[in-house]
Amino acid sequence: MLDVLVIGGGNAALCAAISAREAGMSVTMLEAAPREWRGGNSMHTRNLRCMHDAPEDVLTEAYPEEEFWQDLKKVTAGRTNEALARLVIRESARLRPWMRRHGVRFQPSLSGTLHLSRTNAFFMGGGKALVNAYYRSAQAAGVAVRYEAPVARLELVPGSPGGRFAAAVLESGERIAARACVVASGGFESNRAWLREAWGENERGEWPADQFLIRGTRFNQGVLLKDLIAQGADAIGDATQAHMVAIDARAPLYDGGIVTRVDSVSLGIMVNREGRRFYDEGEDFWPKRYAIWGRLVALQPGQVAHSIIDAKAVGRFMPPVFRGARADTLAELARQLGLPEAALEATVREFNAACRVGAFDHAVLDDCRTEGVTPQKTHWARPIDTPPFFGYTLRPGVTFTYLGLKVDARAAVHFGGAPSDNLFAAGEVMAGNVLGRGYTAGVGMTIGTVFGRIAGRSAAAAARVTTAQASNDDGQAAPDAPGRQEPARPSEGLAPRRARARAHP
Ligand SMILES: Cc1cc2nc3c(=O)[nH]c(=O)nc-3n(C[C@H](O)[C@H](O)[C@H](O)COP(=O)(O)OP(=O)(O)OC[C@H]3O[C@@H](n4cnc5c(N)ncnc54)[C@H](O)[C@@H]3O)c2cc1C
Repeated sequence: MLDVLVIGGGNAALCAAISAREAGMSVTMLEAAPREWRGGNSMHTRNLRCMHDAPEDVLTEAYPEEEFWQDLKKVTAGRTNEALARLVIRESARLRPWMRRHGVRFQPSLSGTLHLSRTNAFFMGGGKALVNAYYRSAQAAGVAVRYEAPVARLELVPGSPGGRFAAAVLESGERIAARACVVASGGFESNRAWLREAWGENERGEWPADQFLIRGTRFNQGVLLKDLIAQGADAIGDATQAHMVAIDARAPLYDGGIVTRVDSVSLGIMVNREGRRFYDEGEDFWPKRYAIWGRLVALQPGQVAHSIIDAKAVGRFMPPVFRGARADTLAELARQLGLPEAALEATVREFNAACRVGAFDHAVLDDCRTEGVTPQKTHWARPIDTPPFFGYTLRPGVTFTYLGLKVDARAAVHFGGAPSDNLFAAGEVMAGNVLGRGYTAGVGMTIGTVFGRIAGRSAAAAARVTTAQASNDDGQAAPDAPGRQEPARPSEGLAPRRARARAHP
């Protein structure tokens, strides 16, 4: 029988598959997507957030555990499991050597974009290169990969306490049994019907989710998340919580990726379709705040908003892939964007009059702010008075959802409060344990990499126990079988055969 079955084809699945293989197990990965679309949302990524106490390779200065934890606590407003969050943070310091061994290359961050050189390690070639490197490494080590293999449901051993995994059933009807399983099949962000149901109808009679765009893969339909919750797995998080960015309204429904993001928000004002401002555009550094704007836009009438800047902002943010509307007067800009002219002019007049400009510096929380206007703009407030004016129409772009499976530090999926002994979860499908809401850039890949590796090692340990038990049941000697399930141990860099030889220390 197969030792470890990994379901998914993105970062978390790959980290799990490689780790289980390093521990000497036979491993098969099932990816729903065809080969050319493999890699889920992970192929769209650029970096991961890493703790470090001093400058290290591509990371500048220091980013200690406590600061990382405080950042996470702040963005989640405390909706996080501290023990699991700290596990992720501490492990993040040790990831890069392992990633390098599997072909991932890093580069310093570009300056002038998201101010991330201290906290985030950037992948050379982006997430696509990372995913390709992991596939190469996994396959070279003997992991079997099957594409176009969407799993429809999991079979659990009937009556088993803690939900014991028996087999996966593919959409085709094929059944694959394994000693242990890792579910790394992402969130449910690609499932528009589920998003619609979760967000419901608002007080204006609108169904907000109908206007959402999906920034990543179309394959994260949440099939196994739904299936496991229905079979009694403990869920964590709220179905309306997600990483949601305000993206260019012209982005495609799926897979628009990072180029559809518009980073001009903190340099100007955001107005809704009535031409009114609705939130502090300068609340904090963009990397700490960009992920709240999708949700803010989702709450506006028509789920649409417009970023308005003037010529002073040009060159200070990453140019978006689509050109913005451009005009020499605000009235003309309003016409191009379909906004009420008088309302936009009045909003800008009021904002400009409220600006108290100090020493403008987009790299720090500067002292340019407003006084006497609601909402206040607390940093980088400068009058919008220098033509040409630019405007970008934005819609909510869902990156990934936070509703997930409750896990413990071994990545074991919980059923009625008890951990499964052979079913594990990693990545978006369990990220809600750490991210109850909010986001800080790069933490998605950190969670997936840390928990992917833990889940792979835990699944290997569980498979080993099952093998040993089977030998005992057959009356055969199993001298090195552990009497109880081992905690997962790192087996960094071990070739599978050597790892197997050392599997029972
Ligand atoms: C545009 C964009 C940019 C991002 N940038 C960053 C960044 O720079 N840094 C960062 O930390 N995070 C970033 N993220 C978030 C990041 O992508 C996720 O946190 C991370 O990729 C999650 O990894 P995962 O393996 O859990 O999910 P995914 O990479 O999405 O993989 C899920 C996999 O499961 C497969 N699958 C789904 N259902 C099934 C099924 N039933 N059967 C079989 N297979 C199935 C899918 O095909 C897919 O391969 C970004 C996301 C997007 C969309």
